[in-house]
Formats: sequence, C-alpha cells, structure tokens
Amino acid sequence: MGEAILALNAGSSSLKFALFRLGDGRPVAICRGELEDVNGAGHFRARDAGGVLLADKAAPDPVRDADAALAFLLDWTDKHLGDDTLACVGHRIVHGGRDFTAPVRIDDAVMRALDALCPLAPLHQPHNLAGVRAVSRARPNLIQTASFDTAFHAGHDAIVARFAIPRRFEGDGVRRYGFHGLSYDYISHRLAALDPALARGRVIAAHLGNGASLCALANGKSVDTTMGFSALDGLVMGTRCGLLDPGVLLYLQDHAGLDSKGVSDLLYKQSGLLGVSGISGDVRALLASDKPEARDALDLFAFRAAREAAAMTATLGGLDGIVFSAGIGENAAPVRAAICERLAWLGVSLDTAANAKGGESKISTADSSVTVWIVPTDEEATIVRDAISLLDYQ
Ligand code: ADP
Repeated sequence: MGEAILALNAGSSSLKFALFRLGDGRPVAICRGELEDVNGAGHFRARDAGGVLLADKAAPDPVRDADAALAFLLDWTDKHLGDDTLACVGHRIVHGGRDFTAPVRIDDAVMRALDALCPLAPLHQPHNLAGVRAVSRARPNLIQTASFDTAFHAGHDAIVARFAIPRRFEGDGVRRYGFHGLSYDYISHRLAALDPALARGRVIAAHLGNGASLCALANGKSVDTTMGFSALDGLVMGTRCGLLDPGVLLYLQDHAGLDSKGVSDLLYKQSGLLGVSGISGDVRALLASDKPEARDALDLFAFRAAREAAAMTATLGGLDGIVFSAGIGENAAPVRAAICERLAWLGVSLDTAANAKGGESKISTADSSVTVWIVPTDEEATIVRDAISLLDYQ
C-alpha cells in the first residue's frame, strides 16, 4: 500500500488535477485531467501518464459548485488509487501577497490570510479557495497545502517591484508581484537537469499559453517578470491586453461609457489575440487563418514578446538562453521562429529543423550566442514537490 498526492488547480469553471504516487519518496505522475463546465453539466476527462484516455464522459449529475466537483473528483481518485491512500491535496493558489513567499500547509489562519488577498486577484483567488474549502468539507482530515503563483518572484529587488505612483500605495500592496511562478519554478529545475551550465546563467523563460509572461532567471532565480500587479500586464495574451497605457483606462471610463466591470471584461476577455484578430484568441485558429487580421494579431504577439524580452535582458545585464514553454511555446513553431527572428540582434539563431520538430530539446544552432530550448512545463509537479517538502517525506 502506497501513498498519493493530488495536485489541484481550481478555476472559475474548471478543475484541473494531476495524481502522483509516491514511490520511495519520488513522485510519479499516474494520471491527470480536468473536470470542465463546473457550475454546469460537467465533463470529465483523464489520461494516464502515457497519454492513454482513462475517462471522457459527462459527469453523472450536474456539477453545481466546487463541492460537487470535488466530491466527484475525490470519488474517482479513490477508485483509481485502489489500495493506495491519498495523503495530501496540494492546491495552486494564484496569490500569496507579500507574506506567503513559500508553500504552506493550510489551516484556518492561513485561509483567513488568503481570503484577505482576494481583492488582489478577484477572478482567480476565490475559486482557488473554494476548492480548498470543498476538500475540507469532503475530507476534513486530509492535509492540504498551498503553492503560490507569486512566490517564485518574491525575491525581486524593490526597484523591480515598485510602481512610480505615490509611495503610500505600496504599503497597501500596490506593487508588482508576477505570476506563473509554479511553471517557472518547474522550468528552472528542469533546465538545471537538462543544461546545468545554462541554468547557472542569464535565461528568459517564456510561458506562452492563453495567459503569457516572461521571467528573467539569473542562476535559476526570478529577478524580473512581465506580469505585475495583475495577470493583465506584459505580453499580448489570448484574450488579455498585456501592457497598456493607463491613459487608455481613463479614456474608456470617461469617454467610452464603460464602468469598471465593463473595463475588466474588455481587458481580460475581449482583448489580446482575440481583440486584435476579431477571429479567435487561440493560436491554432490564427495560424490556420489566411485573414490579414490573424496575421496582424500573431505579428503583434511576437513583436511585443521580443520587446519585453529585450526589457528582461536589460534586467539580466545580458542573455545566455531562452526557454519556450506552455501551449504556444511548446507547440507553435512559427511563433517561436517569429520571436527569435526579432531577437537575432542579440545573437539568437534558431535551428530551423529542430524548431520544426519540437519536443523537449535544444533548438538553437551550434553557433548561436543565445541557447534556445523548448521545455514542456508541469505546474502540478511543482505543487507536488512543494507538498512533499511540507510533509517531511524527504
Ligand atoms: P492555458 O493558459 O489555458 O493553460 P495553454 O498552455 O494550454 O493555456 O495554451 C493554450 C494556447 O496554446 C492556445 O493559444 C493554443 O492555440 C496554443 N496551442 C496548443 N497546441 C498548439 C499547437 N499544436 N499549435 C499551435 N498552438 C497551439
């Protein structure tokens, strides 16, 4: 009989999970998947570690809320584990504020502190915490841990975190935090195994998914990142605007008749690749389209990614490597090529065949002065590593 850890990422309408078995203290992923359409009919999909489909079915009953979603998932997990027991549930929590700079075991005091951070991430934090509460109600004795998307960036210098607005707001938490930390933590560890010399150098990790950001890594530690106070800042994203002149916000409210909810919807859900193309926020759809607006959106994505990469290079004081990751970074060879082409002046030279082949690999030419890698990310692996560190298994 062994033990297992469940990594959870509870969102507004989906519950992503990965189940790891602890063989001699080392976690091995045994399956992962997603319950979609939470608050609706509910659709469950799971695959084993080899990618074989284990389940692809409607939930037996409508999944009304997080409680129903967790009850369904914990039941499925129990059946899937057989004689093994679930030792812990590790959660992805988007915001740790200034105080949570490392993973923690969750108790009532931690929950109160995390509740207080909801205004900093109103679209994500409440759903993450609803997942914790649902597990507490279903399994009151189960240990739960929290891994924070902000924590990997907690060591930033004050000059990196500071906005140039009156200083009193900084005391209220108005500063740059950065996100995608679980992904960058994984990439940093993985790069140290794949290319130890490069991992000790100056590297830009590019997490390019529906949400997208860059992280400047110096000797494996985050020293700057493109997301700031919110997950809106920085790169052009699927439906989010990225870096935007704050004067636009004033104009939208004063002259375009939008209230704060209208502005929020516009910037989070109607902008980015979707807003510019008018077609889709999905890179696959844009690559397949022959409309000029699709090309415009992809060009803007690459232009802004390269421009932000130059900013990260300034923080790092030079550049030794770039790592592409997440849905677009791992799969969209033309997007990687377009970004790297715009960074040729830094000495970036892509191996065209290696870039087209993809997979976890080095994709720069032998004479490129900047080494370029693709490293598929695994945020759940970070959650489980954090949980193990808190469970004293090591
Ligand atoms: P999320 O932030 O929701 O986790 P993902 O990391 O799954 O997002 O990335 C989603 C993005 O990755 C979408 O724009 C999608 O089009 C893109 N993507 C996924 N697979 C491919 C592919 N094979 N080719 C091009 N783009 C892809």
